[in-house]
Amino acid sequence: MPKNNNMLKVNNIHKKYSNEAYPLQGVSLEVEPKQTALIMGRSGSGKSTLINCICGIENKDSGEVYINNNLVDYTNNDALNKIRKQDIGIVFQQYYLLSKTTVYNQIALTCDANERDIDEILKELNIYELKHKLIDECSGGQQQRVCIARALSKKPKLILADEPTANLDFNLAITSIELMQKIAKNMGSGVLIITHDDRIVPLSDKVYHLEDGKLNLQKINKKSAL
Ligand code: ADP
Ligand code: MG
Repeated sequence: MPKNNNMLKVNNIHKKYSNEAYPLQGVSLEVEPKQTALIMGRSGSGKSTLINCICGIENKDSGEVYINNNLVDYTNNDALNKIRKQDIGIVFQQYYLLSKTTVYNQIALTCDANERDIDEILKELNIYELKHKLIDECSGGQQQRVCIARALSKKPKLILADEPTANLDFNLAITSIELMQKIAKNMGSGVLIITHDDRIVPLSDKVYHLEDGKLNLQKINKKSAL
């Protein structure tokens, strides 16, 4: 068990692909409850690989992941599915939305949230009027907010977001991050955001930089940075 209370603890993860790409060469990080951590780094540095290893979409070669202080056993499919369904809300870089499905059903089909809670989140993200529209009729920025709504509706213990503001204007980007943080404050969740977006830095508690397979902590503690 890790000593501190972390919603996410990643310990010395290595991941090498068969094509010789070696994006994670001993990566460690910690996200405490109610904390927002960013991972920045150039395209191709391994940011998505790291998120994929944390949620078990990719197999890491070595290292450990603790979620809510519990060691994740990636060989146990039932346990992993339970964690993914109940504890982790993921905002994917490629959205992975179902075509020919309404905005509301994208969300309702993937979590147990009640309709009122979903409505609330749709309103906060300014997409409530799209509730019964097919996803195919939504713009890129609207689809991005549906992904965020889908991840947040289950009020997860851990929010993992891969470039969640790439298609959003300034106000919507800030609103989206603040909504993640509001849920994190209420639920004691940790928030880990992968981003190129400097606009989010002032809202974060910690900034890591991923380069040459290593993660360096660049900023810690919102108050000291202001
Ligand atoms: P980022 O999200 O930071 O842009 P990625 O994690 O997507 O970067 O990719 C990191 C490196 O790993 C890149 O060199 C990429 O080409 C390589 N890579 C990613 N996924 C695969 C894969 N499934 N097979 C082989 N190489 C991959
Ligand atoms: Mg990526």
